[in-house]
Amino acid sequence: MTILFASDLDRTLIYSKNSRGTEVNEQDLSTVEWVDDKPVAYMTNKGIELFDQLPSEISFLPVTTRTASQYQRITGLFNAQYQPTYAIVANGAVILENGEPLVEWSEKIKQQLKQDCTTIEHVLPQLQAYAKKGFVLKVLQAESWFVYMIIDEKMFSVEELENLSNIFYEQGFTLSHQGRKLYIMPNCINKSIALQFVKERIGATTVLAAGDSYLDLDMVMSADHGFIPSHGEAVQKIDSLPPHISITQQTGVLAGEEILKIVSNYLL
Ligand SMILES: [Mg+2]
Repeated sequence: MTILFASDLDRTLIYSKNSRGTEVNEQDLSTVEWVDDKPVAYMTNKGIELFDQLPSEISFLPVTTRTASQYQRITGLFNAQYQPTYAIVANGAVILENGEPLVEWSEKIKQQLKQDCTTIEHVLPQLQAYAKKGFVLKVLQAESWFVYMIIDEKMFSVEELENLSNIFYEQGFTLSHQGRKLYIMPNCINKSIALQFVKERIGATTVLAAGDSYLDLDMVMSADHGFIPSHGEAVQKIDSLPPHISITQQTGVLAGEEILKIVSNYLL
């Protein structure tokens, strides 16, 4: 029996200083990511311990919107001794197998992007009109896959998000607002579809999935058991809670620990 524990990383298992909350003392936190030798992401010590002791029947599958190189920075969790066999990065556009991208998978996504007219070249010209608005601080690209913006949250209204969501929805994109980042994600780049591929490849019998954002919702909903941190954007997108979905009681970095606690007890 193989149980797959597919989990988003940022704001689900690992947390920045801004998103981790204030309930946990510095000495109870471990750094899991550094940028230029500066700590940037954390888990609780207890969370790390639970993660390290997950039963061998449970295979961990990271599923992140980070690019491969951003993912590989999380050395506090995925150190030289422990590398998951598979990782889904770039929101599902890339599947790493033993650290190497599966070329046939990404080629399929590239063709689909062209067919759907949802390539970066299609999005960028449309964003010029918004670049003049005060809320857009930067427009960035995740390799050749998708566009995301760094926004000024104080100047960005719910109406603005709805307006942009509607415009891009009709063209085949999903928008996700996560703190200072606003993702414009082509629908064919989807964590859930990539997860299904890995599930079949390893012959997993059961999938547990966790995620906080709108981009995680399909994956969490289609799992046998799904977990959403209570602070997550995904919580707002659910009308009624299906019985196989749990929302954490805790928020911030403690929500990550709570999910790991439930997953580590799954077989008991
Ligand atoms: Mg997340």
